[in-house]
Amino acid sequence: MESPLRTQFFSFLAQTSPEPMGLEIEHAKGSVLFDKKGKAYIDMISGISVSNLGHGNSEVLNAVTAQLQKGMHFMVYGEFIQSAQVELATALLNCLPKNLESVYFVNSGSEAVEGAMKLAKRSTGRTKILSFENGYHGSTQGALSLMGNEMLKAPFRPLLPGVGFLRFNHLEDLEIIDSDTACLVMEPIQGEAGVISADPHFMIAARKKCGETGTLLVFDEAQTGFGRTGTFWAFEQYGVVPDILILAKALGGGMPLGCFIASKVLMDTLSQNPPLGHITTFGGHPVCCAAGLASLKVILREDLKNNALKIGAQLEERLQHPAIQAVRVSGALAAIEFKSADLNKEIIRACVEKGLLVDWFLFNDRSMRIAPPLNMEKSLVEKACDIILESLVQATARIGLH
Ligand code: PMP
Repeated sequence: MESPLRTQFFSFLAQTSPEPMGLEIEHAKGSVLFDKKGKAYIDMISGISVSNLGHGNSEVLNAVTAQLQKGMHFMVYGEFIQSAQVELATALLNCLPKNLESVYFVNSGSEAVEGAMKLAKRSTGRTKILSFENGYHGSTQGALSLMGNEMLKAPFRPLLPGVGFLRFNHLEDLEIIDSDTACLVMEPIQGEAGVISADPHFMIAARKKCGETGTLLVFDEAQTGFGRTGTFWAFEQYGVVPDILILAKALGGGMPLGCFIASKVLMDTLSQNPPLGHITTFGGHPVCCAAGLASLKVILREDLKNNALKIGAQLEERLQHPAIQAVRVSGALAAIEFKSADLNKEIIRACVEKGLLVDWFLFNDRSMRIAPPLNMEKSLVEKACDIILESLVQATARIGLH
């Protein structure tokens, strides 16, 4: 008999798709989630690149508890001087190049993208915005306008006017950037496309072209930040620095938080002529900032970017099989590509059945998403690889290699 909770979930909660995973997860500890019956699932997706420390980290829990006791919400963002926000902003800026010197906290990745687009329009006086095919930047209407996938966008038109798309890693497309362009919004390593890294020469040329045309270069590191890809920020791998940086997901240490970061001069344009150019009630919620700061400290102290690299190397070494067409690894963010979406989904289904949480990518359903907590132990990564390979053998036996 179906559990009442399950029935209520399908009746009372708005659904995002006809086929949600539908697991009844009750609690989680470290890199393992447990369902209502006590079945364990190794977490190889971190709630989509959020739980970089796994679950229930004591330093994060202590910071949240301490802030809860001081208070939750005192005032809308930007009016009161709140120590949790100031401390997190200071700690973030300490990890960033000098031109990134002012943090605007919001609640989510999409909202950070919205803010970054407004900042670019306001500070350049231009309206044209460019982004990339297969890029993902969120689901609100502005962020959706930047989505490089027509299927998810078409039913919601009209969206923002003046948005154009470049092909990722196509040097000739950079010519579209001109003196009317407010900003170029880019994931240095495209996540939902299935872990596609920018070519270094493409990245350098994009930076150069933006500089020449007065276009602001915006990096969306919602998914790639905080050591996920083996460097603290993915952009460090390219030796280029953005004008605006978008962060979210792992930023809040498991709590909802986003931000965009720019120079003080740029950021000041949102607070003057007119003032209140961007406002948010809950942005930079002190409990989320406290969790984010605690998480950031652990990631830095334990040098988890280095562990991300080790996880990536282990995945690359272990995940070899004739049915695997490609393994794209960027630290602890990996895409395992199969011949077809059907095969991928069958393998994912078998993995989940065996207690391993994996997923596919929004714009690449032939690829399995792997994004474990950055502190996952070697033995657990090993076990996860065993389960993936077993599931693969089982799935190919059932539906063939296609
Ligand atoms: N940018 C990127 C690169 C993302 O991966 C995501 C979420 N997957 C977002 C923005 C949107 O973040 P949110 O879901 O918090 O709005």
